[in-house]
Amino acid sequence: MNLEEYKGVFVFAQQVDNELTPIAFELIGKGKDLAKDLNTDVTAVLIGSDVKSLADELAEYGADKVIVVDDPELKDYRTEPYAHALASVIKEYKPEIMLVGATAIGRDLGPRVSARVKTGLTADCTVLEIGEFKGVANQLLMTRPAFGGNTIATIACPNTRPQMATVRPGVMQKLEPVKGAKAEVIEYNPGFTPDNKYVEILKVVKEAKSAENIMDAKILVSGGRGVGSAENFKMLQDLADVLGGMVSCSRAVVENGWKPVDVQVGQTGKTVRPNLYFAIGISGAIQHVAGMEESDIIIAINKDEDAPIFDVADYGIVGDLNKIVPALTEALKAELN
Ligand code: FAD
Repeated sequence: MNLEEYKGVFVFAQQVDNELTPIAFELIGKGKDLAKDLNTDVTAVLIGSDVKSLADELAEYGADKVIVVDDPELKDYRTEPYAHALASVIKEYKPEIMLVGATAIGRDLGPRVSARVKTGLTADCTVLEIGEFKGVANQLLMTRPAFGGNTIATIACPNTRPQMATVRPGVMQKLEPVKGAKAEVIEYNPGFTPDNKYVEILKVVKEAKSAENIMDAKILVSGGRGVGSAENFKMLQDLADVLGGMVSCSRAVVENGWKPVDVQVGQTGKTVRPNLYFAIGISGAIQHVAGMEESDIIIAINKDEDAPIFDVADYGIVGDLNKIVPALTEALKAELN
């Protein structure tokens, strides 16, 4: 493999039902940083059926080029044709870096494509930067929690290209869109020969999701095991209602069946960065903190003054949440009315 042939930062621009997924914009945002350090540009790879019109939106969020693979076989996500499409783009255009979102689709697609093009992939990265590895400059340094989150590992891929990484939604920042920006659009179709390896989709059943997503909330009132029961979460909901926020939780709460997994914050939950994050009865395990430490202001309420959550909190209240939370809600009600 001649590494010199590989140039440019590519991102997989995930779309579902011909609507771009926010991770596509977040990856372009990060891609721009990396491309600047490497003095190159960012190419979004858009795969689907009748998706060409989405190229302008990718341009507005910063893509310099958009490679469109458009084919009826790509209407709904299926592993085989999508892996063929992305692996073919990599073989044809030889990117130096290929970023994929760690969504359900990206987690399926990324590793399969990396195996096809015989390179490595670092999954679930939280930090990506360009730096030196073993004396060689301009390497992609990919950082992620390892060994169950007990350590942080930085991984490089010095001998093969592209350097591939998946990134969790919400970790990287998208850029402010520039209205009317245009990208160079390149249409490419490697050809699809459906065979018995292709899964046949008989019916698509959409998951009934709560309309609101904790990743969009400006204020989150998050509860942990210390809240004590599903019923006690009503106390947190009252506080969230007064502030116009949403309730989220730690994994211990999901494991106890008090809240559904779609409101779990942390390494195996969602990454959030609200303006205000209440951590109530949450100890502050590294896997939880990984999902909320970027919040603008963190207020922790815990009866244990040595709880690690106080290390990341801007404000800390030591005491019994059963007393503090209702008192806080009443005080805010009086203040805000
Ligand atoms: P605890 O650690 O039990 O803390 C409860 C806290 O409540 C304590 O600090 C206690 O002092 C306080 N408390 C109790 N009663 C009161 C009271 N009356 N008033 C005030 N304070 C009180 N965790 C996540 O949250 N998100 C993840 O995504 C996640 N992913 C993980 C991935 C892996 C691979 C592993 C190994 C673990 C993961 N965890 C995750 C689990 C994590 O390690 C912790 O076990 C979990 O975060 C603990 O949840 P907690 O803080 O609610 O509970």
